[in-house]
Formats: sequence, structure tokens, C-alpha cells
Amino acid sequence: MIYSFESTDASYKEFIDELHKRSLDYELIKRDKIVVRIFGHVNDELRSRLDSIVDSRKLVLKKSAERESPFIDGRKMFIAGPCSVESEEQLDAIARFLSSRGITYLRGGAFKPRTQSSSFQGLGKAGLRILSETARRYNMKVVTELMDRSQLNDVIEHADIIQVGSRNMFNYTLLTALGSVDRPILLKRGMAATIDEWVYAADYIRKGGNTDIILCERGIRTFEPRTRFTLDILAIPLARKMSGLPVIADASHAAGSRDLVPPLVRASLAAGADGVMVEVHQSPGEALSDGAQSMSFGDYAELLVELHESGWYQPTNLRASQTADPD
Ligand code: PEP
Ligand code: MN
Repeated sequence: MIYSFESTDASYKEFIDELHKRSLDYELIKRDKIVVRIFGHVNDELRSRLDSIVDSRKLVLKKSAERESPFIDGRKMFIAGPCSVESEEQLDAIARFLSSRGITYLRGGAFKPRTQSSSFQGLGKAGLRILSETARRYNMKVVTELMDRSQLNDVIEHADIIQVGSRNMFNYTLLTALGSVDRPILLKRGMAATIDEWVYAADYIRKGGNTDIILCERGIRTFEPRTRFTLDILAIPLARKMSGLPVIADASHAAGSRDLVPPLVRASLAAGADGVMVEVHQSPGEALSDGAQSMSFGDYAELLVELHESGWYQPTNLRASQTADPD
């Protein structure tokens, strides 16, 4: 829950006193306005108490912005982009290609959870800025990962959908914090999480009042070493049914190699996935992360044409996606 106050108004102090009295966890941000973000669940009694302070002092209550659902007319959600944002030039080339094929959700990591600390860790805040500026140029929306609560204000400023990565699915402090933000959350399944644990993790976000959640099956760790992970196809219809939430599949991280991505995309859609996420790079061999599983422009364009012909992919800017030549 977020409240914002005019910076000239000192009466927010009474509001803060109330939060202190109740030992509530909150964050205070002083910019052009004073923003108070309350973490965790705000029950009806507390809400009306806080609202009464707000009303009596004529403070400004920040309302959630009206958002367009990513699932308009039951269309599948297609998210694509590089594993990591590497530079302005890289993201511009990728976004230009994707938008010419009708893709509207641009993914890209700015804060990267890498297995080895010596690997590229992402561009951080600079990467977020590149993401939102590029997305704006091509009329796309940004999907990016939040790794830690300390990054929340920056990520909210630049992301349309906040991704919680597989490694953080069990981070209940982070999930609770996301319960109070006004952005949809893309919650990836932990690589060793049961379906129950994954659905329960979504409840931590829901409990804080944010019900805009998309689950993402991204493969689990099994005894099979030939693939990076094992995409749990059955988890797609099961988690959908158990949670009542949309479920998409990340084919790239499960496959680990680009040639296995198209069959996983087809299988996920056939199993009822509400969308698919794929890593795409203009030069996969030179990618700073996950190059082996990133699809080239040509291969991804070909996959989209096939999915369009089979009725799975219905982009809004159809003309561009059909007539532009694959790069
Ligand atoms: C990612 O999508 O960039 C990522 C790191 O995925 P996961 O959390 O599923 O490993
Ligand atoms: Mn990746």
C-alpha cells in the first residue's frame, strides 16, 4: 500500500507515528512528493485509520494506475528479449526486431542472479534506464527481475512487470514487499520447488493486496543432466487450476540450448500456457549470459510465423509481423 504526501505538508508525521505505534514495516521516500510504502497486509481497520488521517489533513492518496491486462481477448502473452541488458545498441537492435514482429513485452535482466560471482552481473540501474528508454521508443513494455528489496524503487520506476527469479521464489520477505506494489509480478517457479510451494509463494504477494500475479514455469531440477532443467509441462494446467492465476512458460531456461526452445514453446502452449517467454539475442554467440539458449532473430521470426499460422500467436500489429523479412 502506498500513500503519497505533498512535500510541503508536514502532517505525514502523524501518519508515520501511527505506523510506528503498530510496529509496521514501511519505507519513506522523499522526492518531489513524500511517499510512504507500507509492506505487508493492511487490514480494513488499519486502512480506515490511515485514511482518516489522510482525509483530515487533505493529503494526497496515491491511486494505482489503471493498467491494461496483458491477456487482452484471451491472447497469449509473448515475452522476448535478451537474458541481460548489455548496451543501448544491443537492446535497440533486439527491440526493433521484436516490435517489427508484433512482440510487445521486452524482457532483459539489469540485476542478474548468476551462479558464479565472477560472471557478468548485469548493468544495474543503468540497465533499467536502457530498458525503459528502449521500450518507450518501440511502444513495448518492460519485464525485468528484482533481486532484492533495496532495488525496488528503481525497478518500479522502469518496469511494467516485475520478475521474481527462480532463486528468489522462497524469499518470503521479498514476496511480502511485492504485495504492496502496483505492478504485476511474474513469479518464476523455484528450480526445486513443488507446485504447492510455488502456489503458496504467490499467496505471500496476494496477501499484501497485489493480486496481479503471473506464474512462470521455467523448469525444475531432476536427475536428467542432458538438459539444463526439466520443463514440468503438467505444472502448467495444475498451477493454473490450483491458483486461478495465469501461467506462462519460460522455454529458454528449461532447454538450455536454443534448438530445444521451439518444441518446448509448442508443448507449453498446447498444455494451456497463457504465454511464453523466450530469450532472443542479435548475436547469440557473443551474448554476455545464456548465449547457448538464446534464439537468433531468424529462428525466432520463423517460430513466430509457425505459431501465427497455427493460431497461437495473434500479434496486434499483424501486418508488420507478417511482411517484415527475418534478419
Ligand atoms: C532470467 O529469466 O533471466 C532468469 C535468471 O531466470 P530464472 O530465475 O528462471 O533462472
Ligand atoms: Mn537467462
